[in-house]
Amino acid sequence: EKYEKGLEKTRTSFTSKINELVAKYRKVDEDFFEELEELLLQADVGFETVMELMEELRFEVQRKNVKDTSQVQSVISEKLVEIYEAGEDQPNELNMQEDLTVILFVGVNGVGKTTTIGKLAHRFKEEGKSVVLAAGDTFRAGAIEQLDEWGKRVGVDVIKQAAGSDPAAVMYDAIRSAKSRKADVLICDTAGRLQNKVNLMNELQKVHRVIGRELPGAPHEVLLALDATTGQNALTQAQIFKEATDVTGIVLTKLDGTAKGGIVLAIRSKLNIPVKFVGLGEKMDDLQPFDPQKYVYGLFA
Ligand code: GDP
Repeated sequence: EKYEKGLEKTRTSFTSKINELVAKYRKVDEDFFEELEELLLQADVGFETVMELMEELRFEVQRKNVKDTSQVQSVISEKLVEIYEAGEDQPNELNMQEDLTVILFVGVNGVGKTTTIGKLAHRFKEEGKSVVLAAGDTFRAGAIEQLDEWGKRVGVDVIKQAAGSDPAAVMYDAIRSAKSRKADVLICDTAGRLQNKVNLMNELQKVHRVIGRELPGAPHEVLLALDATTGQNALTQAQIFKEATDVTGIVLTKLDGTAKGGIVLAIRSKLNIPVKFVGLGEKMDDLQPFDPQKYVYGLFA
């Protein structure tokens, strides 16, 4: 139900338009296909994915001898799930360790990174894990306080230094501290000012290096937060971060705020990085593990 509610905007626009289409045409023909194609493009599924989907849809419709437009919906859902699940075998679950798991968060300011860290910390706490946060965004005014607030709200400690200090030093402290208190998870925030791309990327690489030196094998996940409402812009950001650091998963935020939920599929096929979580609201428990089946069927629910 979380999925259905969170995807309401995408769902209502998508589902009602598909229903209109089905009612309008009744018989599957070329005009129907063309309008359907347009609809999928509007939902930000992405050009290539839509083309692929349409080709397979035509094939399936012929193979199964589907004549009635009302039968096309289930074929669409099946194909969308297939497209998502195709490609490299990448787990949607986090790579959790026996002892300390370090998760590094990256992403541009405003995408919902801090909120997601808070939500994820809450999730881990609910699972009975002990969590520490690292305030690695020492650049943006207010970032440290904001993370601190989330720490208080969720009830976990935040390792921080003064604004303007070296983020790598914060990570050094945070790893030591998480190790000494035998924490299960350390979640690290990082700066997200894309205006100075080279500096940002250097900083991320340094942070990554320091974490790996203090705890070999860490970070175990590098999660990129992307704002679903920014559409194709999110894809561009992902390309940039992918070049700079080894992104292991994506958290797609603000899916509740857009009618273009098809972006999940575009991300998957364009970047080949698994979507691990989706943000479906501003509250603590509005973070859901991404499940392609639930997601796609949520669109048609
Ligand atoms: P940051 O700059 O990337 O750390 O972004 P913030 O965590 O400060 O979030 C920016 C804004 O987006 C805040 O107002 C959040 O409440 C909001 N936000 C974050 N995630 C979601 C989400 O999944 N859904 C909605 N509707 N709002 C979100």
